[in-house]
Amino acid sequence: MQPEERYRTYSKHLKEKFGYKVYKLPVNLPGTCPNRDGTVGRGGCIFCDEEGSGFDALPNSLAVKDQLQTNKANFKKKFKAQKFIAYFQAFTNTYLPLEQFKANMQAAAEEPDIIGISISTRPDCISDAYLDYLQTLQQEYNLNINIELGLQTVNYHTLHRINRGHSLAEYVDAVLRTKKRGFEICTHLILNLPGDDREDIVEGAKLMSVLHSDYVKFHSLYVVRDTVLGDMYSKGEFEMISLEEYAQRVVTFLEYLDPTIVVQRLVGKGPAEKVLFSNWDVSWWKLRQAIEELLETKDTYQGRLFNYTNGAALAKV
Ligand code: SF4
Repeated sequence: MQPEERYRTYSKHLKEKFGYKVYKLPVNLPGTCPNRDGTVGRGGCIFCDEEGSGFDALPNSLAVKDQLQTNKANFKKKFKAQKFIAYFQAFTNTYLPLEQFKANMQAAAEEPDIIGISISTRPDCISDAYLDYLQTLQQEYNLNINIELGLQTVNYHTLHRINRGHSLAEYVDAVLRTKKRGFEICTHLILNLPGDDREDIVEGAKLMSVLHSDYVKFHSLYVVRDTVLGDMYSKGEFEMISLEEYAQRVVTFLEYLDPTIVVQRLVGKGPAEKVLFSNWDVSWWKLRQAIEELLETKDTYQGRLFNYTNGAALAKV
């Protein structure tokens, strides 16, 4: 079995779904987040810097069209790509005033070769007015729309400790309402938050499966300078798990995950600057390799332990 056959990869899924290669183009909007401006909290999540977790994108002072066109030209040249998904990446995009949100989505929808829009947000910022508008947009432009929800962990004690400003219930509510409209969900998870252990990883995979988050996206914890987490790290207030343990957690998560869920990203690319810790100082692809090697060594795969639904306990009686 090839490593990429042991879990459901995003690139393969896109090719199956659309019949050609599709790439995501990052777009950064100027914005904030209710967890930074005082609406639900101040200072944000303990790991968030003032860029709102939108590394690796063009300056947000550029118009949506300009960002898309610049990135599109680069991706066409580099990957010979033809079709794209506009990915509104940083901050909480559905926290923008509704009219501003509409104008930005409209700009992306009108751009040639854009076949989908991906919108990052928080689970407590999914309002029906925004979903109504997105439904209209989807029908008008025949777009593939998905909502990327930052959850990070299913452990609501950890959510509180990292100052997320929302609990697990808001995530469940957001998923149910978004899926009712027919939009896809991608859930972002960090598998090595301080305080989480393997039980949280298993529970996370089970919850993603039960709610059928269409996509999951993992990244390890980046420790950025001048954040609360950065200070905690410098003072030795928590211990980072090892790379080996991290790989094991990803493998465990995959084993319990519904095999039809697409793994949009196995490993994140850590920000190059301002970090005190990122991916154990190895490149993202080496970390991915370590995870894929572990899948092979253990001769395991996504969904191997996915058998707890549909009365699995009764089946054991
Ligand atoms: S929800 Fe996102 S943008 Fe807001 S504070 Fe947390 S990481 Fe930063």
